[in-house]
Amino acid sequence: MLKNDEFIMEIVDVTNEGSGVGKVDGMAVFVPLTAVGDIVKVKALKVKKTYAYGKLMEIITPSSERIENDCPHFNRCGGCVFRHINYEAELTLKTNKVKEAVKRIGGVELEPQPILFDKCDRYRNKAQYPISENGGVGFYAFHSHRIIECEDCILQPEVFSKITDAVSDFVRQNSISIYNEEKHNGLLRHLYIRKGEHSGEIMVCFVINGDRLPKSEIIAELQRLCGDALKSVVLNINKQDTNVILGEKCITLYGSDYITDILAGVKVRLSPLSFYQVNTVMANKLYAKAKEYAKPNGKNIIDLYCGAGTIGLSMAKEAKSIIGVEIIEAAVRDAQFNAKENGIDNVRFICGDAKTAAEQLKNEGIKPDTVIVDPPRKGCDSELIKIIANDFCPERVVYISCDPATFARDIKIFSEEGYNLLEYTPADLFPRTSHCETVGVLVRTDFTLR
Ligand code: SAH
Repeated sequence: MLKNDEFIMEIVDVTNEGSGVGKVDGMAVFVPLTAVGDIVKVKALKVKKTYAYGKLMEIITPSSERIENDCPHFNRCGGCVFRHINYEAELTLKTNKVKEAVKRIGGVELEPQPILFDKCDRYRNKAQYPISENGGVGFYAFHSHRIIECEDCILQPEVFSKITDAVSDFVRQNSISIYNEEKHNGLLRHLYIRKGEHSGEIMVCFVINGDRLPKSEIIAELQRLCGDALKSVVLNINKQDTNVILGEKCITLYGSDYITDILAGVKVRLSPLSFYQVNTVMANKLYAKAKEYAKPNGKNIIDLYCGAGTIGLSMAKEAKSIIGVEIIEAAVRDAQFNAKENGIDNVRFICGDAKTAAEQLKNEGIKPDTVIVDPPRKGCDSELIKIIANDFCPERVVYISCDPATFARDIKIFSEEGYNLLEYTPADLFPRTSHCETVGVLVRTDFTLR
C-alpha cells in the first residue's frame, strides 16, 4: 500500500478513540467517521509497516448502525466521536471495549453486567472553553490546541451557549486580550461554567493570566441571561506557563464562592477547584452501583480519591465509619462542609496523596471492611494496591475507573495480591465521546472460596 492509494474495504471494528478499522492486505487501516459494517472507499493518508491511516472518500454501503449526524462541529472539535452511529451501537461498542480490556490486560474472562446509561445529549454540568484570538469561544480540535469555535455544543446545557455568546461579545467590545500559549502573554485563558443539575445554580469562572478583569459589565449581562440561577462569578488566577487549565487561586467577583447541588441524596457544595462528576444523572446511577458493591451496612469504609466526598457521604448513613482521602485541599474542605451540611458525623477526611495517606492509616492500625478507589485516568499506584491488599485486607474493594486500560492493569495487580474481580459494570457517563466509566468489585480470594 502506498500513500494516496484508494481502495474499498469493510469496517470491522472501532478503536478506543472511536476510529473505524478495516483490513487490507493484512494491514489494519484506521478511518475516522466510519461505522462497523460500512463498506467504504478509502484513501491512504499515512502508511506504516503494519497499519495505515485512511480518509473516508465515499460510503458505498452504509452500516445499519448509521444515523444522521446532527452537529456541524462533529469531527472538527475534540469532543464527540460517535454522532454518526446510533446510541445502542455505541453502548455495545463501549461494553465490548471494557470487556476486552479486562480480558486482554486484566487476564480475567468475565462477562460485564449490562452497561448503565441515560440521556445522551445535554448531559454535562461543566464546560471549560478555550478562547480564540478573536474572542470566539469553543473547544480544542483532536490532539491539538487549535480552537474550533462552537456556538452550541449539544452535550452542554443550553444556557452555556448563551453565556459563551455573551462572553464573546464582552471580550470583543472591550478588546480584552486573549492568552497566547506560545508567547505566554495575554489575559483571558479559559471560560469555565458549571450548572447544578438539580439546583440549576450556575457558576461562571474566568481563568486569567493576571489579577483582574479590566471591565465588569459582563456580570450584569450574566445576571440578565441567567436570572436568579446565577449564584457565583469567579476569577481563577493562572499565571503559569502550563496547559493545566486552572490555577490555585480563586477570587469571587459576584455572589458566593461556590454553587450547590444534590448528588446521590447528598447536598454538595462545589468550589471551582473541586472535582465533580460532569454527568450528574449518570453519577447517581454509578454511585448506586458502587453502593451495591460496597455493601456499606455497619461497615468501616475507606474512600480513596474522594474529591468532594460524595461517594463516601452517599453511604455514610448505612456505614459505621468513612475515611475519605483526597489530594486537592479545596475539595477536602468541600467534603468536610458537605458532611456537616448533611448532618453526617461518622466521617473523616484526609488531605494528601492516596498512597501516603494509606501508609498513615495503616500505621494507625485502621482495618476497613471495604476500600473504595476512584483514581484519575492513570489508575492506582501499585504500592497503594499492595497496602490495600496486604495491610488493610478488606473484604471488598470497589474500583471506579474512567479508563478501562488502567482499570484492567490494576485488576491484574490486585489478583496477584489475592483479590479477584467478582463483578463489573460499565457506565456511560460520557455519551457520544470515546470515554467510558467502569465500576467493579473485588473480593479477597479466601472470602470467595468460603
Ligand atoms: N470520587 C470522587 C472524585 C473522583 S476523581 C467523585 O466521584 O467525585 C479523582 C480524584 O482524585 C480527584 O478529586 C483528584 O483531585 C484526586 N486525586 C488525584 N491524584 C490523587 C492522589 N495521588 N491522591 C489522592 N487523590 C488524588
